[in-house]
Amino acid sequence: MFVNKILIVDIKRNALDDGPGIRTLVFFKGCPLSCVWCQNPEARSPFKEISFNVNLCSECKACLEVCNQKAINFSYKFRVDRSKCNLCGNCVEICPNSALKFVGQEYSIRELLKILLQDRVFYKNSGGGVTLSGGEPLYHIDYVGELVKELKREEIHICIETCGYYNRDKFYELVLPFTDLIYFDLKIYKPKLHAQHCKVSNERILANFEDLIKNKSIEILPRIPIIPGITDSNENLSKLANYLKMLEIKRIKLLPYNPLWLSKSAMIGIKPLYDYSDWLDNNNKERIKSFFSNFEFDDF
Ligand code: SF4
Ligand code: SF4
Repeated sequence: MFVNKILIVDIKRNALDDGPGIRTLVFFKGCPLSCVWCQNPEARSPFKEISFNVNLCSECKACLEVCNQKAINFSYKFRVDRSKCNLCGNCVEICPNSALKFVGQEYSIRELLKILLQDRVFYKNSGGGVTLSGGEPLYHIDYVGELVKELKREEIHICIETCGYYNRDKFYELVLPFTDLIYFDLKIYKPKLHAQHCKVSNERILANFEDLIKNKSIEILPRIPIIPGITDSNENLSKLANYLKMLEIKRIKLLPYNPLWLSKSAMIGIKPLYDYSDWLDNNNKERIKSFFSNFEFDDF
C-alpha cells in the first residue's frame, strides 16, 4: 500500500562513505529484522519515538512541569517512561537544551526530493549521489520505488543499503530498474542462528541475494558486519566466505564493530540484549581478514 509520508530518522549531506563520491544519506525508520547489535537502534521501530540525552540535560526540570502523563521520572535511568508517554511533545518543545527530542520526522516524496536535489552539482562533480539506508529502506518499498523513480528522472546515482529481507517481486518491479548499486548485508550463514540473533531466519535474504547475483543487472557489494562473539566466529566467517566464493563474488566489504551504538540505545530507553563495548583488536582483525584472502576488500 502506498503511503504519502514516511518517517525519516536523519538526512546526512556531504557524506563520503556509503557509496562513491559525495552523497546524501537518508536513514529510513523501521526494519523487519531486530539484530541484537543493531548499530542504529533508533531506526529499528517504524514508529515515532522520544529520545533523551543525559549529557545535554541541565536538570532544570521544565519537562517535569509540562508532562501531563507523569511520564518524566528523574529517578528512572532512561528518564522517560515510554509506557506512559503519549508523544504529546510538550517536553520536547520546552527543553532549553534539546536533551529531549523526537526520533523520526515525516517527509513526503516531494519534501525529500527537494532536499536531495540541493546537492546535485556536488554529486555530478564527484561521481556521487544519494544512498538510502536505515533501518531498512525496502521496508517502505512502495514509497522508495516512487522516490528512486523520481531521482533517476533527475539522473541521480542511487545506492541502496539493505538487509535483504524484501519482497522480491516488488523490488524488481519498483526499485531495481532505477537503482545503480546495492550494498547487501550478510550477517550469519546458519538460518537458526540468524533467527536467534536477528529475529528472522535468513532463508529469504539468501534467496534474494542469490537471485540478484544471477540477475547480473546491477552492481552489488556484499557487506559482512563483524560482531564479536556472534558473526565473527571461525565457523560463520568460513561458511560466508565459501558461500560468496561459490557465487563467484570478487569484492566484499567488512564492516568493523562500533560499540558507540550502546549510548544510542539508552537514549531511546532500551536496555540492549547484547552489550559488547570494546573495539576490535588487531589480532582479531588479522584472523577475520584471513578468511577472505581470496576477495578484494578495503582494509579496516
Ligand atoms: S512527549 Fe508528552 S507525554 Fe511524553 S514525556 Fe514528553 S511531555 Fe510527557
Ligand atoms: S527540560 Fe531538558 S534540560 Fe531541563 S530537565 Fe528536562 S530534559 Fe533536562
